[in-house]
Amino acid sequence: MIESFEELENQIKDCTKCKLHQNRTNIVLGCGNKNAKVMFIGEGPGADEDIQGEPFVGKAGKLMNQAFKGIGIKREDVYICNVVKCRPPMNRNPEADETSACLDYLRTQVMLVKPKIIVLLGSVALKAILGDEVSITKARGKWVDKKDIKYMPTFHPAALLRDEAKKIDFWNDLMEVKKVSEEI
Ligand code: URA
Ligand code: SF4
Repeated sequence: MIESFEELENQIKDCTKCKLHQNRTNIVLGCGNKNAKVMFIGEGPGADEDIQGEPFVGKAGKLMNQAFKGIGIKREDVYICNVVKCRPPMNRNPEADETSACLDYLRTQVMLVKPKIIVLLGSVALKAILGDEVSITKARGKWVDKKDIKYMPTFHPAALLRDEAKKIDFWNDLMEVKKVSEEI
């Protein structure tokens, strides 16, 4: 069993468990506070993340940072990562075999960070973590309690780039997360 981030980094650094290793520049493990109360889980690295080795640093990340700033969430206080750690070609969704190959790393991250709240950004994270087949539009904004962790599904920030109307829901969901994180 892995007991530290150092061990996890060592284990993942040359990972070839799925075909996504073929085109990656960097493995994007995660960033932020390793003892965070709140953890954010996206889908997988995009082009900017693949180059910089950090999650949510491209367009979608900038939008998320803006929301964080407006709501008063500090990026360095939370932990941010993705379902898969290597960039899917053309930013397609990760395939089932890739998700299942990578999921152990995410489980280890959750075990090490021990968050009280996990924000699931979009349907890929919702499905991978809660096994939920309901649409993100239906699931968003509603807490799911499971094994001492509160899950909040919400839209992926990239969805806000395509549909401005989703911004208000995203902001509301993050405000709810902030409020509850201060109570627990
Ligand atoms: N989209 C994601 O799901 N994750 C990132 O890190 C960047 C964009
Ligand atoms: Fe390994 Fe995950 Fe990268 Fe696949 S996506 S090669 S399982 S680190």
